[in-house]
Amino acid sequence: MAPANTKEIYGSLVFNEHVMKERLPAATYRSLKATVQKGQPLDIELANVVASVMRDWAMEKGATHYTHWFQPLTGITSEKHDSFVSPMKDGTAIMEFSGKELVRGEPDASSFPSGGLRAVAEARGYTTWDPSSYAFVKDGTLCVPTAFCSWNGEALDKKTPLLRSMKVVSDQACRILRLFGKDIAHVDVTVGPEQEYFLIKKEDYERREDLILTGRTLFGAMPAKGQELEEHYFGALRPEVSAFMKHLDEELWKLGVAAKTKHNEVAPCQHELAPIFDRCNVAVDHNLLTMELMKKLAPQHGLVCLLHEKPFEGVNGSGKHDNWSLSAPGLNLLDPGDTPRDNLQFLIFFAAVIKAVDEYQDLLRMSIASAGNEHRLGGNEAPPAIVSVFVGDELNAILDAIASDSEYVAPQAVKIDLGVDVLPKFAKDNTDRNRTSPFAFTGNKFEFRMPGSSSNISDANTVLNTAVAKELMGYADELERAQDFDSAVIALVKRTIRDHKRVIFNGNGYTKEWEAEAARRGLACEPAASDALAAMIAPKNLELFAKMGVLSETEARSRYEVKLEHYAKLRHIEAVTMMEITRRQLVPATLAYMTALANGIAAKQAACPGISCKAEEKALRQLTNYTDAMSDAADRLEAQVEAAEAVPTAQAQGRARAYHDQVLPAMNALRAAADAAEAICGQEYWPLPSYSSMLYYV
Ligand code: ADP
Ligand code: MG
Repeated sequence: MAPANTKEIYGSLVFNEHVMKERLPAATYRSLKATVQKGQPLDIELANVVASVMRDWAMEKGATHYTHWFQPLTGITSEKHDSFVSPMKDGTAIMEFSGKELVRGEPDASSFPSGGLRAVAEARGYTTWDPSSYAFVKDGTLCVPTAFCSWNGEALDKKTPLLRSMKVVSDQACRILRLFGKDIAHVDVTVGPEQEYFLIKKEDYERREDLILTGRTLFGAMPAKGQELEEHYFGALRPEVSAFMKHLDEELWKLGVAAKTKHNEVAPCQHELAPIFDRCNVAVDHNLLTMELMKKLAPQHGLVCLLHEKPFEGVNGSGKHDNWSLSAPGLNLLDPGDTPRDNLQFLIFFAAVIKAVDEYQDLLRMSIASAGNEHRLGGNEAPPAIVSVFVGDELNAILDAIASDSEYVAPQAVKIDLGVDVLPKFAKDNTDRNRTSPFAFTGNKFEFRMPGSSSNISDANTVLNTAVAKELMGYADELERAQDFDSAVIALVKRTIRDHKRVIFNGNGYTKEWEAEAARRGLACEPAASDALAAMIAPKNLELFAKMGVLSETEARSRYEVKLEHYAKLRHIEAVTMMEITRRQLVPATLAYMTALANGIAAKQAACPGISCKAEEKALRQLTNYTDAMSDAADRLEAQVEAAEAVPTAQAQGRARAYHDQVLPAMNALRAAADAAEAICGQEYWPLPSYSSMLYYV
């Protein structure tokens, strides 16, 4: 592939600001911008003009169809393509795309999960354009980013609550900024998601039904070599991987996704891509596009991209670090700044995040809980299932000083008088060294490290935005009434730190000691995803969502149902896949090998009576044991699956728990037997590519 001119291709498939300015009539452009900024619905006249310009532009880019691109509760994106074609009486056709088609679509909602929100009889839902995320052309189709609601206006997607949460956090942040004399109409949530993924050879993938059906290996004996040599991180890229990454960058750039950093990750065959941060909803859309393109392009390079959180047991899993901040024009609100005023302002926003994370730790944990992420959290390479905040030693000392009314003494012996002087500049580099923290302050943003690699980060950001908005609201209520603003701010920060200190932890989050310490501090620790999800409907959390207008109780409850159902369904697929592979591939393989061994023994004995057959016999006996164990474990697994399936679907919580408490251990038992068999079965007999061959190849 000839290298493309990056500057030329960048954003070439996006109906962006530049295109709008160039192509829309000046008045239309101005009204569109104003409507978008105010978050108001588009009037139909305006929509008609925009739609026709958009259609012409899209057709120049090769589009014949359009789609409302949306994010149902499955987490992935959905699209239904309609052509622009409109037949005429004379047998010809014209290409049409109306304002109405641009702003509103009516997909049949009955086949998307709704958690009982929408009865099948009233299956209709509608999608509405999110004009704050640009339309783009993908694969011959004009994609219009949209939100998806039921006819009663209830959210049926992940984007609607996200947009609501961005709005409330913006409103509350603006109130705080007004107290600092800054009249700002809008504060943006900025997000930069670092995406981890694995690439394996396509030929290996095709031979593993577990990868094909579940995205992870359900079997696989540990290879002789693990990650102990630490040679993969930032290592040189394999040629096919490098070609894939170049290809991916190019396609992403065309879509206006600012792919920036790419490198090898810690585990063999693991990689990472980080874009430059963007507005929260755009960052989410772009991350979804990134994942889609990764999957689509890899096979063109003989590879398959695995986005699962834990594709390989015993090998690092993949996450998606969610870098998060708030920004007003030209101003990062989590940047400590240079003046005492800036410092005070920083401290308020900083304190609001600490308070939000402490009060809604269970909800943050819930937002990233999934069947896949359950294998990752608490593993020795991933953040624990406990939410805590890392602030770094220096900032911690400052916070301590504020909380205890003592004077802060900087390491360089620079004394500061809080609220009057300037916060010492803490070296940014020092703030990002703790990789074990699930929620780390990294100099001018927070990095939420718990989300899984396959997740739609709308959920995590919706919770974060909403919780922070609620704290800012409380602060604004208090400060707007304050007599002496500066001392009120200091008092408020002081109180926050004192009350929420327990959530701050700067040590190693991977240790057992921390688990014990966190329990003493009363922090939530819920390793099972099926249980962590219950936070969605905890009264204090329902109240938060309702108070901030992000999710009604009905919407929240329906989401909870969908998440539980999803958990149970995924585990069900995994369990059934395991049984099938065991019975149809693994047991027949060991039987074939054992037959060969037995025949070999018989042949040897016939040729040379009394000859030693010790090795063969040993293998035969061991393999017989493991095969029996596999066969029995598969039967037990089947019984557990039947028991879990017998729990009525209406009892989603009970079903999910049955899958977690009973089915998962039965799966682990089956795997243990199969992995033991793999370790001694003749290589050419074992039907699944081994971990060594998949992860270590030239
Ligand atoms: P790491 O050291 O964690 O790998 P990187 O610098 O590679 O960090 O990635 C950090 C991510 O954080 C990038 O996607 C970057 O764009 C994003 N980021 C930087 N500043 C902000 C901000 N103010 N708000 C949100 N995300 C940000
Ligand atoms: Mg990171």
